[in-house]
Amino acid sequence: MNSRQRLIFQSYKRLWRLAPPALHPRPAGASVLLYHNVDDAPSPYVRRLGVTMTTAEFEAHIRFLAETRTIVPFSRLAEHLDDPKAIAITFDDGYRTIRSVALPILERFGVPFKAYVLAPSESGNAIWLNQLSYLLDTCSSSEVSRLARSAIGSDLPPDWRGDVTPFVEHFIETRTPAAIRDAFEGHRHEAMPDLYLSDEDIRALAEHPLVELGSHTRNHYPLHRVSHETVEAEVVLAHEELTERYGEAIDGFCLPFGYRHHLTENVVRYIRKVDESVVSAYGGRMGAHSVHGVPEIRRIGAWGNLGVLWHQLRYEP
Ligand SMILES: [Zn+2]
Repeated sequence: MNSRQRLIFQSYKRLWRLAPPALHPRPAGASVLLYHNVDDAPSPYVRRLGVTMTTAEFEAHIRFLAETRTIVPFSRLAEHLDDPKAIAITFDDGYRTIRSVALPILERFGVPFKAYVLAPSESGNAIWLNQLSYLLDTCSSSEVSRLARSAIGSDLPPDWRGDVTPFVEHFIETRTPAAIRDAFEGHRHEAMPDLYLSDEDIRALAEHPLVELGSHTRNHYPLHRVSHETVEAEVVLAHEELTERYGEAIDGFCLPFGYRHHLTENVVRYIRKVDESVVSAYGGRMGAHSVHGVPEIRRIGAWGNLGVLWHQLRYEP
């Protein structure tokens, strides 16, 4: 920062402090935080998904939240909607680190949380996103370009940052998962680590007094890009299968990727069959939000460092 920038910054800070409190955005409702993977050494199977935080970061979050907020079970949010200090904690995707790394920390602070898990898929331990992360992390740029053309029928944008977004947003149901699977199987790869909670893990979580569970599809497809039949299979049938396996512990559903533009009227229609609300993930506080006439629970993706969390809780509208 040069001296001119510093002067502007200092004046801005002073003005901000002097401004009447009414001008400061004061978030009103409760917040729901979203985490995925807590892992100090994420494998190539998750590295490009951008969903991992370190154990130290996660522990700092939980310590801070336990000291400064009221952490409530997700199922009790309705009683705390207008309380800006109320927080519920959720995990998506069912990575095994939820039990092996996050749970011991959450137990130590007595913090309740909800985990949304995937139904078992044919691809076993690595769904298409994990295979894609592996390929993006280990292939040459010409191999990745070839993969993009076969999987999404186009080149990657010039400003592409190495993440999975173009494959999600240009997903073609009849092409993308198969092209990624073929490339993955043809590519020499190291032994696959156990990425997801095992059946035994989920049963243990289902019995745990701090834990609530919900469903999160089977294959984590971007639901706005697939056929009605696939939406039904991913949302309704996957939820039913999880309920058969784990009983009433499975309660509710959350949207893969969580973006607003994935919530088409058709997608919401199927979500309505397994949940009373739409649980999304593009930020924002609890409030009177709805999507296609269904109440919406917006969650804040919180897997950054403590400074990012503080900022999100302070300024998230
Ligand atoms: Zn997810």
